[in-house]
Amino acid sequence: MSFEKLGLIKPLLGAIKELGYHEPTSIQKRAIPLVLAKEDIFATAQTGTGKTAAFALPLLQRLRNTTATEDRAVRGVILSPTRELSIQIFDDIQNYSKHMHLQCAILVGGKDLEAQQRSLKSGIDIIIATPGRLMEHVDKGLNLSKVEIFVLDEADRMLDMGFAKEIRKIHPILPKRHQTLLFSATYSDKVRKISKLLLTKPTFIESSKRNSTVDTINQLAYMVDTARKAELLAYLIGSRNYPQVLVFTRTKVSADALVEELKKDGLKCGVIHGDKTQANRLKTLNAFKEGKIKVLVATDIASRGLDIEELPYVINYELPSVAEDYIHRVGRTGRAGRNGEAISLLDIYEKYDIKEIERVIGMKIPKETVAGFEPDPTIRRADEEEKKLKSEHKKPEAQRASKKTSKPELKRAVKKDVKKAEKKSPTAKKAAPTAKKRKVTKRSPK
Ligand code: AMP
Repeated sequence: MSFEKLGLIKPLLGAIKELGYHEPTSIQKRAIPLVLAKEDIFATAQTGTGKTAAFALPLLQRLRNTTATEDRAVRGVILSPTRELSIQIFDDIQNYSKHMHLQCAILVGGKDLEAQQRSLKSGIDIIIATPGRLMEHVDKGLNLSKVEIFVLDEADRMLDMGFAKEIRKIHPILPKRHQTLLFSATYSDKVRKISKLLLTKPTFIESSKRNSTVDTINQLAYMVDTARKAELLAYLIGSRNYPQVLVFTRTKVSADALVEELKKDGLKCGVIHGDKTQANRLKTLNAFKEGKIKVLVATDIASRGLDIEELPYVINYELPSVAEDYIHRVGRTGRAGRNGEAISLLDIYEKYDIKEIERVIGMKIPKETVAGFEPDPTIRRADEEEKKLKSEHKKPEAQRASKKTSKPELKRAVKKDVKKAEKKSPTAKKAAPTAKKRKVTKRSPK
């Protein structure tokens, strides 16, 4: 089926042709006619399926008739969870609407609020915003009473990020009769609940199996010891000649630490996480897109909205704490039907996390080892070890087996040595005074 058959107007057809889109994706085929028919929709669509165009193209068509600048009112609002995703949507909309006369504004945090207010005065048709910043503008008098289309992109992520309150506040400000389009990668209870409030007789679109990852992505996990993950990552990048890799960590701290480790291996890396300013994130992202950086390390918060053309590899250095985030992470590769590979580096502590992920995506991820990086079979999970030892009423094996003598053992050994030495020669008492002294100091209360 062609884009023409979907009923899109010429200015939009021209723009998408220039972008090299030949055929609508599955979600576009299903959503575009429904949005044009003014229906509410609830779509479970993964990232990389072309969902932005699925709502943006018909939205632009519906709002194509503009009035004089002074009479313009905001008629379309698109909410997204992060600044990066908002910027991506804004850029896509600019591209799709290049032969039209619609005005768009982007309202995201980290930018000057007053400058954004001034831009709104120039007559804006469509706003792309993060929920928090949109509410700030509403509090300062932004009028949303003429909104015709309200889009929530990555609704599950917005709710996970705690934006339910803002969404609930925005909803009653909108006019009673408006169209709502809700997109979510996953089908969580939170999303289902808010959809009941926001949507009127929606049509459900399930662009692919619920919570499944895109078919074109080859998923794989390598078992490795925690302490050797960075080494294995550097080895994979180097030995397999990966041109560009997006690497995910669970926390900002491990993202920074990993970058330091990879730099020691001579790899050009960048890092994107919540502590970085927006300007810094964009600079790093652009350097990655331009190929100046080979490895981009990111946390989950930064993973949404990263749209990098033909990204072949995504590596989960650590599994995400929320299983659904796995889908978003691996969705960075295999975009719009291209092939991609998503590799997870699994240590002994992530044994249960991967099971949860497999449950959510409804498939098993093959687990392998890399020669020379096989996990040490003598290393066991501390919590399992403790449980076992507790039941056996024994001291932790690690303590007994440890090459380094533990503190209490050291004290006992020193005491024994001192006693032995005292027996041999009375002067030897002076030979090991420090341990005795330390023992006394440690005991004395502060
Ligand atoms: P999205 O799922 O909206 O993030 O889109 C993923 C990528 O697919 C973006 O780079 C889009 O520009 C691209 N894209 C969207 N629709 C199509 C299409 N019909 N044909 C080719 N590429 C597309």
